[in-house]
Amino acid sequence: MESSIDGRGRQDGFWGLEGESGGPTSEGEGEAVRIGRDLPPACLCECYTAPFITGGRVAPRNAAVVILYREDPELEVFWVRRSRNMRFMGAHYAFPGGQAEPGEELVNCAARELSEEVGVRVDPAELLPVGRWVTPAFNPRRFDTCFFLAGCPDGQEPRCDTPELDLGEWVEPGAALRKWEEGSIMMAPPIRHAMKTLADGLDDIQRRMTSDPSARGGEIPAIEMRKGIVLVPVRTPTLPPATHTNCYVVGGNELIVIDPASPYPEERELLDSVLEQMTAEGRRIREIWLTHRHSDHISGANHLRERWDVPIAAHEITAQEIFGIVEVDRFLSDGDVVDLVGDPGWTLRVVHTPGHARGHVCIFEERRGSLITGDMMAGVGTIVIDPPEGHMGTYLESLTQMEAMEPSALFFAHGPASGTAPEKLREYIDHRVERETNILLAWQDGKTTSDAIVPEVYTDVHPKMWGLAERSVAAHLEKLREEGRI
Ligand SMILES: [Zn+2]
Ligand SMILES: [Zn+2]
Repeated sequence: MESSIDGRGRQDGFWGLEGESGGPTSEGEGEAVRIGRDLPPACLCECYTAPFITGGRVAPRNAAVVILYREDPELEVFWVRRSRNMRFMGAHYAFPGGQAEPGEELVNCAARELSEEVGVRVDPAELLPVGRWVTPAFNPRRFDTCFFLAGCPDGQEPRCDTPELDLGEWVEPGAALRKWEEGSIMMAPPIRHAMKTLADGLDDIQRRMTSDPSARGGEIPAIEMRKGIVLVPVRTPTLPPATHTNCYVVGGNELIVIDPASPYPEERELLDSVLEQMTAEGRRIREIWLTHRHSDHISGANHLRERWDVPIAAHEITAQEIFGIVEVDRFLSDGDVVDLVGDPGWTLRVVHTPGHARGHVCIFEERRGSLITGDMMAGVGTIVIDPPEGHMGTYLESLTQMEAMEPSALFFAHGPASGTAPEKLREYIDHRVERETNILLAWQDGKTTSDAIVPEVYTDVHPKMWGLAERSVAAHLEKLREEGRI
């Protein structure tokens, strides 16, 4: 979930569905989170949405989408682009669809959504089911989505006039795939799978669309976000609302594994099996990189080094901090550039971004502008700046540096990626500045301690989360003192 510190914003689906009211539901009981100084020594990913504080997985909601096609004379499908201001999956390409109403048949849901979103009316009885995809558990908003295929009825032309979408057009499936491969657009795995299958025509389409286990409601162990940027979400003892850490495997013939995070054997096996598949294709793991020292980022590193006999690289500060826990073979320094062999090739630049952790680095893939942010930003929860390790002034400087790099997409260590990098970075910076202004006002009003300031300033945050909020206030006060403003 997006738990902005302000509690603003709404939830939207990972597969490009529009958000509905209410938050995620939880399977099982889930343990309440302890707050304040009782936090586990994991990564401090600040999380403020108290109603969703559970240790359980989020149950997927039923949804349906329609792949509308025409043959004119080439096969084309109608895809839509979500508006940039959508909180999740903004600027992602998708198919028309949405969440089912209580008790609604999915086929009726599909037909209704198609009509509401693009104005095309189809007979539900004529919709062909072509797969079922379940959003992976690392995403706080999950859907169990049925995909249906439908020919566009004669005399009807889809249009796109909902503010949730800023584009709708016919596209030849092969052309859609090429755009994704160039890195110029974002689309989720089911959409890409559909485009790939439809690029070979409509023959035997139902069987071909559902031949992949992931297209029959199965797990999606690895998600290729962009060509050569593969996300393997692994369950970690991180802080709710996050439940997973995103491990990234980047490259083509040569691979870098970033943040092998999980201490759990079954999660390590999952990552190993993804890497086994890649190496069976003749690809080689070159190094393991660590973004920073937190245990929910490094706990699989030793295992991976032994299993694959590859060196570990991290910033020198991180290497010192995890000395005796993980042995670092090589230092990553700000400005280091590594070219990875493969088609089309990847150029990774190391960017030292202290603030959340002193030795934190982001990884910037320069050719297509993909920024792997580590814990500088998050797609779920926000980021704790916890002094003395965390430093607010430095954190803001690092965010400003990231903004200046003008990335085209952000790949977080927790939660779903962002296809609207400029807006997201600006939002992060503005949000901290706004919070600081309010803290300064509270200070001037005579509230001079963190626990006095939090109830004044964090009125939008559940009291259960005030312990974490106090850490952020301490960081803001430190910055204001350093600047001589208090
Ligand atoms: Zn983390
Ligand atoms: Zn962290």
